[in-house]
Amino acid sequence: MNPQKRYAVCMLAAEVAPLSKTGGLADVAAALSKALVAAGHDVRLFTPAYSSIDRAACAARAVPNLQKLRLTVGARAFVFSVLRGKLPGGTPVFLVDCPALFARASIYTSDADEHVRFIAFTRAALMACGEMRWAPRIVHCNDWHTAFAPLLLRTVLKDEPLFATTSTLLTIHNIGYQGIFAASQAKDLGLAPGATPLLYSPDLAAGQINALRHGILYADAINTVSPTYAREICTSEYGMGLDDSLRVRSQDLSGILNGVDYEEWDPRIDRYLPTHYDPAHLAVKTRLKAAFVARLGLDPDPAIPLAGVVSRLATQKGFELMYETLPRVLSQRALNFVVLGAGETQYEEFFSALALRYPGRVHFHQGYDEELAHWIEAASDLFLMPSRYEPCGLNQMYSLRYGTVPVVRRTGGLADSVRHFNPEDGTGTGVVFNDFDGPALEWALNTTLDLYAQPAPWARVVRNGMECDFSWQRAASEYLALYARL
Ligand code: ADP
Repeated sequence: MNPQKRYAVCMLAAEVAPLSKTGGLADVAAALSKALVAAGHDVRLFTPAYSSIDRAACAARAVPNLQKLRLTVGARAFVFSVLRGKLPGGTPVFLVDCPALFARASIYTSDADEHVRFIAFTRAALMACGEMRWAPRIVHCNDWHTAFAPLLLRTVLKDEPLFATTSTLLTIHNIGYQGIFAASQAKDLGLAPGATPLLYSPDLAAGQINALRHGILYADAINTVSPTYAREICTSEYGMGLDDSLRVRSQDLSGILNGVDYEEWDPRIDRYLPTHYDPAHLAVKTRLKAAFVARLGLDPDPAIPLAGVVSRLATQKGFELMYETLPRVLSQRALNFVVLGAGETQYEEFFSALALRYPGRVHFHQGYDEELAHWIEAASDLFLMPSRYEPCGLNQMYSLRYGTVPVVRRTGGLADSVRHFNPEDGTGTGVVFNDFDGPALEWALNTTLDLYAQPAPWARVVRNGMECDFSWQRAASEYLALYARL
């Protein structure tokens, strides 16, 4: 790769932290753009101007040439404008403002026009490039919402000189979300009759169109957010019905582990913590734990380890493995447990019931809470992620930096970021189990608690984790190397 080369990157993302966030996609879109801008690249990050976004807070201003533009999707005509704002740290962001589509109660909806919202967003962003006379070298799509961009560039926009040298990359953040809609809505893509054979016919025959599949078929390259997940999604066990198309594109599929924004997630500078620590000052972590345990009303005995969870409460995250395991471990061993999360009712009910059954031992905070998330990372001794699948996962990497030992299942990004601790030679950063079942999780928890009871190896695994570096600079340079191959 020519290190001097400056890329023009049109980054398309349905959510961007901190403006709009439901998961890791928002963090990646913001952090990767920031790292690429810092490296001198011309990144124009587009995202919908949801009504929930505080426009004053991101200093959003109308872009003069991008006002009241017209767009037709299927039978519906829209008028949209583009605002230019800034993310914290200064990364520019272009907000596609179309109240008819984005002034809804939530970022994602189950409304009948969900696919129209994101086809319109994708087309609006590409139109905005045209209006700005700005030729992106790379259109970087993320997840199903913008996965039609490669097909649109090959069809509807194929004669547009501005895109003559544009290549496309699709990043899959989570293959569980695919953007499926009825084949009867195919006209919403605006393809000329001669281009309709490009739509994936087996899905059409089943009455469906799958947005993510078309990104997989037509992007110049595809990547996902860890090398292990890139391999896993080519199998029927993890591919969620798209593994056949991914295997066809396996030469163009790779995995790049996400980075961590250490300006946000580092116990040396964490703005949510009253005192800070590094590997040489772990006594501060012990004091933070004491304060946190007191705040939550948990057993204050400092010898009792604290386990933490911060998560969407979704099937993906594997909480049903805890149904039998946790009550048994809590009954047999000294352990305090704090959970922060919201999501599916069955898991919320399980953790609520657990907190009632073990007062002073288990605390469940239902909801989304940034401050509490940082405190859990800092104050806990161990952090649980028993995921069924995990494209990358961020919290295990945060845990490593905070000296909080991750207990994870060997899948996706968890497998790529946590190495099982070997007491023989003192290598490894966490406790890793293989099988997706209760006994495996129970083994992992007991192994971790046994390790905690031995100060020297415990100190070693904590320090090994704190020395890991998952910075965005590394991930961004891998993305640049990938752009260079397109
Ligand atoms: P996913 O994208 O599957 O939800 P990731 O681990 O990639 O999982 O990213 C989740 C992000 O959302 C992390 O930054 C995590 O701290 C945050 N998060 C999840 N649930 C909550 C919550 N209830 N409160 C605060 N932060 C949360």
